[in-house]
Amino acid sequence: MTKHGFTLFVFFSAVASTTCRDEQDFCESKVCNEREFKQNHFYTNEKTYGEIPLTLSHRLLDALPLDELDGPVSRPVRGCVFSGSRPTPLKEPLTLAAASQDVLRNILDLNESVIQNEEFVLCVSGGKLFPGSIPLAHRYGGHQFGYWAGQLGDGRAHFLGEYTNRKGERWELQLKGSGKTPYSRSGDGRAVIRSSVREFLCSEAMHFLGVPTSRALSLVVSEEPVWRDLFYNGNVIKERGAVVLRLARSWFRIGSLEILTRTGELDVLRTLLDFIIEEYFKSIAMNDPDKYVVFFSRVVNETAHLIAHWMSVGFAHGVCNTDNFSLLSITIDYGPFGFMESYDPNFVPNTSDDEGRYSIGAQANVGLFNLQKLLEALKPLLTSDQLSQCRQTLREYSQTYQQRFHELFKAKLGFLGNQETDSYVIAFLLKLMEDTGADFTMTFRQLSEVTMSQLQTGSIPPSMWALSDLLSHEYFRDWVQLYLKRLSRMESDSDAARQHRMQGVNPRYVLRNWMAESAIRKAEKNDFSEVALLQKTLTEPFVEQEEAERAGYSSKPPSWAQQLRVSCSS
Ligand code: AMP
Ligand code: MG
Repeated sequence: MTKHGFTLFVFFSAVASTTCRDEQDFCESKVCNEREFKQNHFYTNEKTYGEIPLTLSHRLLDALPLDELDGPVSRPVRGCVFSGSRPTPLKEPLTLAAASQDVLRNILDLNESVIQNEEFVLCVSGGKLFPGSIPLAHRYGGHQFGYWAGQLGDGRAHFLGEYTNRKGERWELQLKGSGKTPYSRSGDGRAVIRSSVREFLCSEAMHFLGVPTSRALSLVVSEEPVWRDLFYNGNVIKERGAVVLRLARSWFRIGSLEILTRTGELDVLRTLLDFIIEEYFKSIAMNDPDKYVVFFSRVVNETAHLIAHWMSVGFAHGVCNTDNFSLLSITIDYGPFGFMESYDPNFVPNTSDDEGRYSIGAQANVGLFNLQKLLEALKPLLTSDQLSQCRQTLREYSQTYQQRFHELFKAKLGFLGNQETDSYVIAFLLKLMEDTGADFTMTFRQLSEVTMSQLQTGSIPPSMWALSDLLSHEYFRDWVQLYLKRLSRMESDSDAARQHRMQGVNPRYVLRNWMAESAIRKAEKNDFSEVALLQKTLTEPFVEQEEAERAGYSSKPPSWAQQLRVSCSS
């Protein structure tokens, strides 16, 4: 690892499997046909449909093989991609703790008043089904912490169906925390308030930061007791269950394909892959003999872009297992993620990740590892020539990543056009930040707010606390001279235009752990005011907001923030 940690390395050592994996406890299952399935699970359950004007459909039910419903008994499932599985309603009273207006209005075409409706709260927490919904659990596997973990699947999530909105976009709706499925293994199928608040807030925040991500419609909390061993040290505590309704264009993961190759179900593999390409990669011709090669190169490209994007906002996912890596290269499965504060390439947000396998600086490499696993999954469907082409694509991943990283960081520094020294200026700044432990988000933000003349004269106001930290570095003046020289070469540019550009890409607010924690502590006492404030603030992360300033969201993190730890337990 270099000092900057942003350089890509192809080699890394294997690390031990961690606590995120439950023991597998299985019994047998059967595969049924679509007609049988619908008879069992669709027509007989009509009474439970809600009255919310949101009708869901299920194209994948017609296209993909289905398991027969056998209750939520954990078992190895074969020959299918989904199992029927009904949500288990949470213990009432239920409270709608938060809802995304943007998702309601702009994705689901719903009027905001719908959230007043009790039916809505039931529908978004698994107590009732939306019209047309057939709840399913997806079967997938995955490499966890470097090792093949076998069958995983939606152990506490229910795929409800898809919605095609008035813009013609198709969105897949899923509940998380909605009870056991055939993939629950020894888990309880639940999610607690703390992890649900984090997923709700962060997925919405990432969207407004411009990072490809799943979205969240709602957060419902309940009185249901849920027991969790927070730090896997035998200290089990009682928490409360919550459900997030989340949405994505697709929830398929690298692990969705891996499991089929691992078990030799090559017909199902081909069926699923063709379905994915036809549905979500529309520009790939289904009669193209190289369609799998083109598909692979798209995923490689987009994954490199996604990870570069994460780096540009200081986001560490925390659990970059192949089951958490989307085939559509969007951020999914928010768990022990973290936004880096003090700049540190070795920043590890997940305290369960002892070896730092998923440190922020390792994410690009881990992306490559995951793409290698995707290629292994595709291998049985490729000719040797196609396999070589895919391997070549993998060799280009590093360059694709670095190029995107470079573009994003150039924009963060307000650079237009290309200059030979750009990489050096970026790397130099990161090195200063690392040496001084300057805050990642606010260093870039304050560089967007400071004037060139303030930089030139070194008269940085103390309110620019992150830049003030950087100022203490013996080479800061050298960097400033390089930076100002670079800026002055953009002749038609003005300082105001530079600031404007930079403020549009350098957020003033990100979901720091301490902010999430403060909102969670209140939410656990049924006070959702800070969830609301954070949600509102993070909808416009690039705009300075009075209330957010008063709450200290752009200030130096409080001292108690340093003690915070986030684990896989959720
Ligand atoms: P995650 O770490 O949240 O990505 O989950 C990894 C795997 O464990 C997935 O298959 C999840 O569905 C499953 N899982 C995590 N928590 C639970 C739980 N409480 N009950 C059942 N399955 C779970
Ligand atoms: Mg997951």
